[in-house]
Amino acid sequence: MNTQNSKNAFQQAVKHIPGGVNSPVRAFKSVGGNPLFIQSAKGSKITDIDNNEYIDYVASWGPMILGHSHPDVIEALHQTALKGTSFGAPTLIETEIAELICDMIPSIESIRMVNSGTEATMSALRLARGYTKRDLVIKFEGCYHGHGDSFLIKAGSGALTFGTPNSPGVTKGTASDTLTAEYNNLDSVLNLFREYEDQIAAVILEPVTGNMGVVRPTDEFIKGLRKACTENGTLLIFDEVMTGFRVAKGGAQEILGITPDLTTLGKIIGGGLPVGAYGGKKEIMEHLAPNGPIYQAGTLSGNPMAMTAGLVTLKKLHETPDFYEKLEEKAAFLCNGLQENLNKLNFPGVINRVGSMFTLFFTNEKEVNNFSDVMKCDTDLFAKYFMLGLESGIYTAPSQFEAGFISIAHSTEELQKTIDASYRALEQLK
Ligand SMILES: *Cc1c(COP(=O)(O)O)cnc(C)c1O
Repeated sequence: MNTQNSKNAFQQAVKHIPGGVNSPVRAFKSVGGNPLFIQSAKGSKITDIDNNEYIDYVASWGPMILGHSHPDVIEALHQTALKGTSFGAPTLIETEIAELICDMIPSIESIRMVNSGTEATMSALRLARGYTKRDLVIKFEGCYHGHGDSFLIKAGSGALTFGTPNSPGVTKGTASDTLTAEYNNLDSVLNLFREYEDQIAAVILEPVTGNMGVVRPTDEFIKGLRKACTENGTLLIFDEVMTGFRVAKGGAQEILGITPDLTTLGKIIGGGLPVGAYGGKKEIMEHLAPNGPIYQAGTLSGNPMAMTAGLVTLKKLHETPDFYEKLEEKAAFLCNGLQENLNKLNFPGVINRVGSMFTLFFTNEKEVNNFSDVMKCDTDLFAKYFMLGLESGIYTAPSQFEAGFISIAHSTEELQKTIDASYRALEQLK
């Protein structure tokens, strides 16, 4: 496969962009390759600047649940652009999308739009601290909540991939306000509640993780968190930036049957444009400016382009009959095929999947349920598998510690092609 244009483009990019990329994992560093520069994408396919076509399981890291450049999204964006791209004043579409989100996720009664998932979690945390008048937050090892200072403590995703879960530049003061616990270990949380009685503003987690790979919470863990937060006057924040509208119409909270106090959103709600949001109980949200004293603002927040792409996407998810059933079928088909490959070749590995999010962990363990299980994975083996995938036209996230995403545009034929390519790769690696 010829990727010379991408190689040249990368050499140019590094001259004026740190590491040649605007978000670290894109650099392919952990798999030792050269990133592919993308010229276009349509449906389930993505095309690099050497005209190689790949079946895409990155989906822009989650947002593209309808597939790339969905004609309805593009047409709506075109119409909106003709009327002006930003006013910094209220528009009707903001109310419309807020109503729809509150309808789809009942725990959200009131919602504020921001421009990224990072902004959503930072703002939700400030709200939780201002509301509870407490400083401390509990997060979980391997969970990623964007690059806000408070969250770059034992963080997942790129921070984990590059071995910088605790980033330099975060002050000691900020770091000491973040307590970390173990995912799927309720006692590790209860101990912190005992030790820091009446000081914990919020517990934040990915209610199904994607940023250390896909891990599902146990029933005991998630129910225990809800109970402990209620008993201690602590807000439970579900960071559903990845899982929102992804694992179910109502997000992870729907499938888990748990009502958080606040929810953060991003990725899919922007339909491929930069959007984040946070929302929850009206009583809490009313503490935000201009009604309350907790300040948060944004020049481009709720801008018409982003709201348009988000609204058209969410309407499709809401109104297409059996959308999530169909997506589930596709995801199950792919992951069953991948599992059969492992079985046939007697290849050690664990596939975790929730809805259309999945991870193939290269591990000798039988299950992957927490951060320490994840850390036992063979990242060198993953890197080789990743490269073999690319060579057969399969584009996946260039890190073991990420989720793969299936869109509604992935055809059975493409999924089968992926299963076959995976089989050949595993056979070669055995
Ligand atoms: C992607 C992600 C974020 C950060 O969102 P950005 O838009 O990249 O800032 C936060 N939390 C979770 C769970 C995410 O998956």
